[in-house]
Amino acid sequence: MNIDLSRDYARKLDEADELSGYRQKFFHNDADMIYMDGNSLGKLPIRTIERVDQIVKEEWGTQLIRSWGINWYQSPIVVGEKIAQLVGAGQGQVVVSDSTTINLFKLAMSALMLRPERKKIITDTLNFPSDLYMLQGCSHLLGGKHQIQMLEPADGLRVDTQAVLDAIDLDTALVTLSHVVFKSGYMYDARTITEYAHQKGALVLWDLSHAVGAVPVELDDWGADFATGCTYKYLNGGPGAPAFLYVRRDLQKEALSPIWGWFGDRTPFSFGLDYKPAEGIQRFLCGTPPVVSVLAMEQGVDLLLEVGIQRLRKKSILLTSYMIDLFDAILAPLGFSLGTPREVDQRGSHISFRHAEGYRINLALIEEMNVIPDFREPDNIRLGLTPMYTSFLDVWESINRIQRVVTEKRYLRFPETRQTVT
Ligand SMILES: *Cc1c(COP(=O)(O)O)cnc(C)c1O
Repeated sequence: MNIDLSRDYARKLDEADELSGYRQKFFHNDADMIYMDGNSLGKLPIRTIERVDQIVKEEWGTQLIRSWGINWYQSPIVVGEKIAQLVGAGQGQVVVSDSTTINLFKLAMSALMLRPERKKIITDTLNFPSDLYMLQGCSHLLGGKHQIQMLEPADGLRVDTQAVLDAIDLDTALVTLSHVVFKSGYMYDARTITEYAHQKGALVLWDLSHAVGAVPVELDDWGADFATGCTYKYLNGGPGAPAFLYVRRDLQKEALSPIWGWFGDRTPFSFGLDYKPAEGIQRFLCGTPPVVSVLAMEQGVDLLLEVGIQRLRKKSILLTSYMIDLFDAILAPLGFSLGTPREVDQRGSHISFRHAEGYRINLALIEEMNVIPDFREPDNIRLGLTPMYTSFLDVWESINRIQRVVTEKRYLRFPETRQTVT
């Protein structure tokens, strides 16, 4: 392929980018830094700074407990409805609640309780560890009678749709996968898998952590049963921002949360002695929400709604394709291999490069080159391309700085022993 490798070309792509104006809506204090980890922790929207100040001083400081009746009590519902628009969900099906890990527990248990006779849970080895641990914990709690089948990727990057379908049978209670997987960025054909699982009477739970805000998600259209996802990644909700969960409307009557808390009760403020689950999605709430975090996160969600997921996806595809072109020309000859599918419709918004020295290259990038990606075992350097604020120049710079780390052998200065957080 004939690709223009010049810095000037990256600039031209930025000039043609209709979303370039959104970059300045985020906090930057180091013009040289190339932030490539928006898929792990999204950047800080400037409007969030002002909003948090207002929440703390006015809503908490001045209004105190009265704020519960003004906007706090409803906030998990109100913000949930906004996220619903990003995941193709009609009203009354999405709520902000807890963390992704806890929601996985609530939803997986709920699904397994709806299919008590069935013994199989299907997932894959590409899934996030917490998702797998949670399934193991659910199985343990339910007496260890479930069999968790973890599908393996034939090429290390992806599990073919057909392999998933082949695994689903009449004993399958639950199929649960990450729509976009965290290491390779592979994106599943969620619609086909959901439809087939339903033909076999199984339920489907999608983890949208690396999908929401990055790729189009159509939960209602797919017919998904359950879903959950993080808001501190592409939604720029802030560290530890609460997650969201989705339960399809017609399942809400029979589906029960395994955690019976007062926020999930029909009338929390009647303080009754016996739990009666709320009618709708609210039954999946547990206890008091982290209000400051919910309302801070809302600002990030609002920004995404302003842009719209179609425009975000369009730019994301341009960014990832450009990065792969540069990778082929500049990094492939240096011992890297691409850790992400080349097919546009099979990838999300991050790119993984694999290299035997990946761990030390990642350290050198952070310590010496002012590029911030992250590292995932055993050899993946992950670069998150966040269409809200990643520029084409960022892509060009990161590839060229990675090239320098390798050609100048800078990584040799770093230890191979792993640090606590990567
Ligand atoms: C980031 C991520 C999580 C993290 O869950 P927390 O409860 O927020 O720690 C879980 N699952 C997937 C697929 C993720 O990408």
